Amino acid sequence: MSLLKKNFIYNNIGCEKIWIGLDDTDSIKGGCTTYLACMLLDKLKEKNYDIIGYPRLVRLNPNIPWKTRGNGAVSFQVKKGNKKEIKVILEQFFEKYARIEDKLTNPGFVIIDKPPSFKIYEKTVKEIVTLKETKDLLKSLKAEYKGYKNCRGLIGATASIAWFPKYDKTYELITYRQEKKWGIKRTVDDKTTIDIDKRFSSTFDNYDYKNKHNRLVPNSPCPILYGIRGESANDLVKALSVIKSEKVSFYQIFETNQGTDDHLQKKKIKDIKPFESVITKGTICKSPHTIRGGHVIFTIKDSTGKTDCAAYEPTKEFREKIRKLDEGDKVEVYGGVREKPLTVNLEKIKVISLNDIVQKIENPLCPKCKKHMKSKGKGQGYKCVRCGNRSDNPIFIKKKRDIKIGFYEVPVCARRHLSKPLKRMKP
Ligand code: ATP
Repeated sequence: MSLLKKNFIYNNIGCEKIWIGLDDTDSIKGGCTTYLACMLLDKLKEKNYDIIGYPRLVRLNPNIPWKTRGNGAVSFQVKKGNKKEIKVILEQFFEKYARIEDKLTNPGFVIIDKPPSFKIYEKTVKEIVTLKETKDLLKSLKAEYKGYKNCRGLIGATASIAWFPKYDKTYELITYRQEKKWGIKRTVDDKTTIDIDKRFSSTFDNYDYKNKHNRLVPNSPCPILYGIRGESANDLVKALSVIKSEKVSFYQIFETNQGTDDHLQKKKIKDIKPFESVITKGTICKSPHTIRGGHVIFTIKDSTGKTDCAAYEPTKEFREKIRKLDEGDKVEVYGGVREKPLTVNLEKIKVISLNDIVQKIENPLCPKCKKHMKSKGKGQGYKCVRCGNRSDNPIFIKKKRDIKIGFYEVPVCARRHLSKPLKRMKP
C-alpha cells in the first residue's frame, strides 16, 4: 500500500491546540466528509501542523429527516497554529471538495480553541438542534466558523468537536479508492472479510452470514472502498492486511462513537417524541402482526400510554423472533422514533418476561360418560349429548413458547452506525 496515513499522537500536556470540525459536504451523488478531512489533514501536515490523536468520525441523530446517509461529522485537533491560515485552507478545500451545488448539501466548518460542552454533542446525537442554538454557542465561544447556503453543517461540525469518548468509543479504519474507480462497482473479497470477522473478535459488523452481505462496503458512489469497525485500532490495522480488494489508495483510522448506543434515551411511553431514539419498557397489548411490505408491528403499553413498535422488512430474520412474541409479554425496546404513525423502529429488543399463554385444545370431558361434550354456541358452555351434564370449562394447555428471555438484535445488514451490537454489551 503506497500512501498510508500516519496519526501523530503527542503528549500534549500544556500545549495549546485548535479544534477543527466539518460537516455536510457530501451528496447522494458523491463526495464524503471523511475524505475531505483526509485531504485537509495531508495539507495541514504539509504545512507543518502537528495533528494530535486520531481524527474523529462522530455520528449524530440518526432520525433527522435531512441527513444524506449516516449523519456523520468529522473533527480533529492540531497544535496551535495560525487560525487565519487554517480558515483559508478550509475555504479552499470546501470549494474544491464539498458538493455545494447539490440542493441538499449545506456545508459548515468550525475552528475553535476549546471544545464546546459535551452537552451540545449529547443534544445533537439525541434530539433536534436549531441552527440559532449552535450559532449562539459558537459566538459565545468566539469560534471562527463558516456556513454555506443554509449553514446547517455548522450543527454537526460543532457537535463533532464537542464529542469525546466520555463513556465509550470505537474505531473505524476507512480505506479509500483510487480516483479513477469512484462511482463504479467495488471489489472487496467476501472470504477475507469473513476471515477477519472470525480472527479479530474486537471488530464488529463485518459480515452478515445469513444475508450474505459484506457490511464493510458502502453502497454509495463515495470515495470510500470499505471501513472496518472495532474496539482496537491495532487489530484494525492487522485486519487491513488480511482483506483482499481492489487497490487501496490510502487509509485513515478514525476514533468514533459508532456502536455505542449514544443516541438512545430511556423514556416512559408518554414522553416518546418523533425524531429521537429511545429505550422504553412495556407490556405487549396487541400481538405482532405482519402488514403489507412484510413489516411486523406490535403495540406495547406502560402506565403512561401505548406505542406501536416495528420490525421493518429490511430487518429480515429479526422479524421471525418478533412474531414469536405475544400479548402479555414484557419487553424493553430500543430504537428510533418515526413520526407518523408514532412508532419505535426496533434496533434491538430485550424480552424481560414471557406471559403464560393457554390454548384450548379440546371440549370438556363428561365425568360420567367419558365422552367430549358439545358446544352450545359461543359463550354458552358445553353439554353432554348422552346424559345432559353441563360444563363451562374446556381443556386448556400452556402454549409452548418458542422464544427465550434475553436480547435480540437486527442482523448486521440492517445495523445502524450508532447501535451497539450485542457482542459489545456488557452482561
Ligand atoms: P454522512 O457524512 O454519513 O453521509 P449525512 O450525509 O447523512 O452524513 P449530512 O450530509 O452531514 O449527513 O447531513 C446532516 C445535516 O444535519 C448536517 O447539516 C448536520 O449539521 C445536521 N444535523 C446533524 N444532527 C442534527 C441535529 N441533531 N439537529 C439538527 N441538525 C442536525
